[in-house]
Amino acid sequence: MTAVQLLAESGDERDALPVLMTAPLRPGCDRAHISRYGDPVWDLAPGVFRDNARRCHVTIHFGGIKDPSIADALRQILHARLNVDLPGHRSRLEPAGVRGEANRTLRFFDFVKAQLGRFDLGRVDQALVDRYARSLRLAGLRPVAAAALLRIIFDLHELQHHLPTARLSFEPWPGRSPFSVAGAKHIAGENRTPRIPEAIMTPLLSWSLRYVTCHAGDILAARAELDRLEATRNRLLAAEEALDPAVRRLRQRQRLLDYVASLRQHGRGIPIWTTAHNGATRTDPQTGAATPPINYHLIHLHAGINAQAEPAMHLGLATGAPDLIAAAIAELGTEIGGMDTPISADPDTGLPWRTRFDAKVLPLEEVMLQSAAYIVCAFLSGMRDSEIQAMRRGCLSITRAEDGTILRHRIKSTAYKGKRGGGEETEWVTIAPVAEAIDVLERLSARAGQARGTTTLWPVLTLRANTKTHVSAEIVRQLNRFRDHLNDQFGSAQAPVIPAGPDGRPWRLTTRQFRRTIAWHIANRPFGTIAGMIQYKHASVAAFEGYAGSSRSGFRGEIEAQRALGQIDDILVYFDERQSGARLGGPAANRVGVVLDTAAHELAPLPAMIADRPRLRTMLGSLARTLHVGPLADCFFDPATALCLNRSSEPGASGPMISMCEPVRCPNACIAERHRPAWQRGADEARLLLREKRLPEPQRVTLQAEVARIQRVLEQIAPGTATPHNGMAGEEEEAGLRVTD
Ligand code: SF4
Repeated sequence: MTAVQLLAESGDERDALPVLMTAPLRPGCDRAHISRYGDPVWDLAPGVFRDNARRCHVTIHFGGIKDPSIADALRQILHARLNVDLPGHRSRLEPAGVRGEANRTLRFFDFVKAQLGRFDLGRVDQALVDRYARSLRLAGLRPVAAAALLRIIFDLHELQHHLPTARLSFEPWPGRSPFSVAGAKHIAGENRTPRIPEAIMTPLLSWSLRYVTCHAGDILAARAELDRLEATRNRLLAAEEALDPAVRRLRQRQRLLDYVASLRQHGRGIPIWTTAHNGATRTDPQTGAATPPINYHLIHLHAGINAQAEPAMHLGLATGAPDLIAAAIAELGTEIGGMDTPISADPDTGLPWRTRFDAKVLPLEEVMLQSAAYIVCAFLSGMRDSEIQAMRRGCLSITRAEDGTILRHRIKSTAYKGKRGGGEETEWVTIAPVAEAIDVLERLSARAGQARGTTTLWPVLTLRANTKTHVSAEIVRQLNRFRDHLNDQFGSAQAPVIPAGPDGRPWRLTTRQFRRTIAWHIANRPFGTIAGMIQYKHASVAAFEGYAGSSRSGFRGEIEAQRALGQIDDILVYFDERQSGARLGGPAANRVGVVLDTAAHELAPLPAMIADRPRLRTMLGSLARTLHVGPLADCFFDPATALCLNRSSEPGASGPMISMCEPVRCPNACIAERHRPAWQRGADEARLLLREKRLPEPQRVTLQAEVARIQRVLEQIAPGTATPHNGMAGEEEEAGLRVTD
């Protein structure tokens, strides 16, 4: 019997119960002083350990609920959910999830009241909950979202012995689950988070790495410059505070003249803002063009003026120095941004990657850098959002060999998933780009961290008053802003840097997508384009080591789940292409072709593309489980005939050794159209070498044989498309080709 049951009779004693009766509390929090059952506001922050949890998400205001009977029922169900484990059904609700649970519950309670005219759970029946389920469908909710809302009704039944009065009088949908009632097709082990398409992930990662490795230096240097300018300005203001205003003005004008002289000396112009941020523009007197306004903010910093504190000192006023500035513009022209920090060259174009900074674009670029570092960390480490956002200063450690070579980068953070309360301190092994991103984050977060007294690597960077400390859920908005920023700054409407998603709209990034995407790539495309960008094998090994070593974060399981899903997807591509007339090559072509044709025959007369896909998945499941994608051939692995295992020195290897694959000899190798570019490249390279007149004869013969071998492979998968030999004319025939496969 729980405390809630025992006290069901006594409202007063129930009101005195702590809201969190057994959940672990943050260090220094006393259970005697946390929110009580009867309090008008429940503050669950003492039971929330994640730095990125927002205060409003862990607070419930019962006073804002107009109907006291609904507020009472909500208290009962939330208290039971927070304190009761139902083995086999539901584990206790994490305090961090209380607001979401309250919102879902109130949606059902409001529906009940609207249906019955007053709130009374005792009068709810199956017909009413059926209507509720229908209303969710009509509201256009995805089945998964509807299932989460229906779960509340199941909870009311399952927790009935722990609820003083808020009980249902019947069992809703006996023998069914919220998922089945909502019409969600749940595939065991399936991760519903969408995988970021490769066409989007590749440039996104590439630009994120570029921000971290190339742009970060400029952004951090510009912040240091702005801090220096502000400090100097503040010193001047303090020193001149007591002077007569006329004397101060004279000094300011002199400093302005010095600043203009310095610009003249370095061939630079008077600063204007990068954008007309508040809609105001100026008209250039020489060209007549509309430009962003003069960057008085920067000019004031150099002249030792704080126009926000003393508007009368603004240099643009008639009493300031508009004459000097106009003359300087006529002589020197203008310069966008105007800060001194030089801008590095873009590695592709050799040109500065952006215009000079000003005090408005700098904070924007800092936020973009934070977003880029997040993407690098999330994608290349496989860590969850909560694990990334739990990283603190000093979380990175490096293990070196005796000669100083770096052996391992390790991140220390906290794993929360499946852990009660404060999570568990865990180490992840990672690769150099992630270490570099963390180093950038340490420097980027230093200013805000110091101002807010936090050591998190993810503070809100702006120092405006009334902003929260931790970036937390705002990171999602930042990531999508980064996507748009890349397109605005480095792409065009016709050629965006980050292409649109399959529906033609910008791909909406969420934090979960990165872990799922990297798991899929490690499992299914270890030789893909992303792999090439990041020495993927290393990433794969590091990620495995980090997670498998502790088994605390479940990444290995995620990769295996993604492997299974990817194998099925890949075999369905084989099936569809076969139905469209694609040919297969390699020794396993016949075996694979027979299985695909048999499945097609059994599904006939349905056209292939509208065939019963779930049935097809089942029919091709065994073949799919043997499929391992490779760069020159896919392997339908059978250990009994695997040639690579004969060559392997690793005892007891249980999977294909793709790097030792013999694609034209091994009975498990199957070559598809997808492999053609790699074979074609091989042929082209060999032909290029054959053009060399002084090539030793044995090498020429070997290369000719190689070209012939590739020709035969290409003929198998795409008859008639193999490029004619273009080595020395006719020499392959003259040499009497020796085929070595
Ligand atoms: S040689 Fe290639 S096709 Fe054969 S089992 Fe090994 S990896 Fe698979």
